[in-house]
Amino acid sequence: MTVLPSDKFATLAIHAGAHTDVHGSVIEPISLSTTFKQSAPAQPIGAYEYSRSQNPNRANLEAAVAALERAQFGLAFSSGSATTAVVLQSLPTDSHAISIGDVYGGTHRYFTQVAHAHGVQTSFTNDLERDLPQLVRPNTRLVWLESPTNPTLKVTDIRRVADAAHAANPDILVVVDNTFLSPYISNPLTHGADIVVHSATKYINGHSDVVLGVLATNNEPLYERLRFLQNAIGAVPSPFDSWLTHRGLKTLHLRVRAAAQSAQRIAKFLEASDRVEHVNYPGLSSHPAYAVVQKQHRDALGGGMISFRIKGGAGAAARFTSTTRLFTLAESLGGIESLVEVPAVMTHGGIPREQREASGVFDNLIRLSVGIEDIDDLLEDVRQALEKAGAQ
Ligand SMILES: *Cc1c(COP(=O)(O)O)cnc(C)c1O
Repeated sequence: MTVLPSDKFATLAIHAGAHTDVHGSVIEPISLSTTFKQSAPAQPIGAYEYSRSQNPNRANLEAAVAALERAQFGLAFSSGSATTAVVLQSLPTDSHAISIGDVYGGTHRYFTQVAHAHGVQTSFTNDLERDLPQLVRPNTRLVWLESPTNPTLKVTDIRRVADAAHAANPDILVVVDNTFLSPYISNPLTHGADIVVHSATKYINGHSDVVLGVLATNNEPLYERLRFLQNAIGAVPSPFDSWLTHRGLKTLHLRVRAAAQSAQRIAKFLEASDRVEHVNYPGLSSHPAYAVVQKQHRDALGGGMISFRIKGGAGAAARFTSTTRLFTLAESLGGIESLVEVPAVMTHGGIPREQREASGVFDNLIRLSVGIEDIDDLLEDVRQALEKAGAQ
């Protein structure tokens, strides 16, 4: 691999993993070949043999993701969920895991309905910083967290959790799902995490046209184990999806900064509105963990995700989401286009009311994924929708 003359994020985003081919193509072509010629039995002529095991476009993407996460090693999978599956599949039989309570729904489902088949038991808590020491058991092997969480945007001090976990037992792996911030805003490995995972479907690809997952780590034996499982399980992304995601990643710093700056203005606007009960946004100084945000996020950026409770209950939430003209009513997040949803009946609809409300997901909670449209247009869209939602 060529060594780049810089470790600045924007330069790495453009150049890491960006190789040229024999023609000197500035953008590497999409390599669709499933198999690669060998000169003698078991003597491949290049670096590749069979494209489930590795192919040029996936290798480029993995190198780029590793660079942006300040990691030595990266791996790509067919979805964020496949990434989670491989990490959890790497746990020894009958081990114990500790997870943040309001973890991504698919991750919760994997812990409780799939990993438990090989004996993995999981304890959930909404406050890892407080509860971790009491939850550790002799067979605890994994701590899983998201920061900020979805959709109430609670922030966890990764360094505190990683130090507590490693002090309890150095064999515990701390995994951070960094999907909501992207590597531009936070690099969990630099705060003590062992593995960082992403649904690249969201910010890393950023254009709502690929489902893909990635992970990065600096732990070589762990990387070898996960790479073995990547090939053995075979949930790998196609060359085309790898290529598209690599293309998307090159503008990550521009997109995420723009989305976060706009989200900051929208969050402040919502906080000042008398039609709003409460705003969750890590960039606001009123956020309960703002001190952690200041040390854990680049330039204390709050990210592109906001959630807020609108006055007027579920009815007002439904009116708001069907009145916005630029924010599209849809699940998912992290794309260039702004989206809006009501978690209680959409992304979090499967969680029983009591449990949902205990973590702050009320019927009047609205989640915004702020895109990169003009900020004045986005503010006006939120303003007019709030006004119409309030008028019965
Ligand atoms: C979307 C998402 C996932 C799952 O990723 P897929 O690519 O949809 O499989 C995992 N974690 C978080 C935080 C997500 O938002």
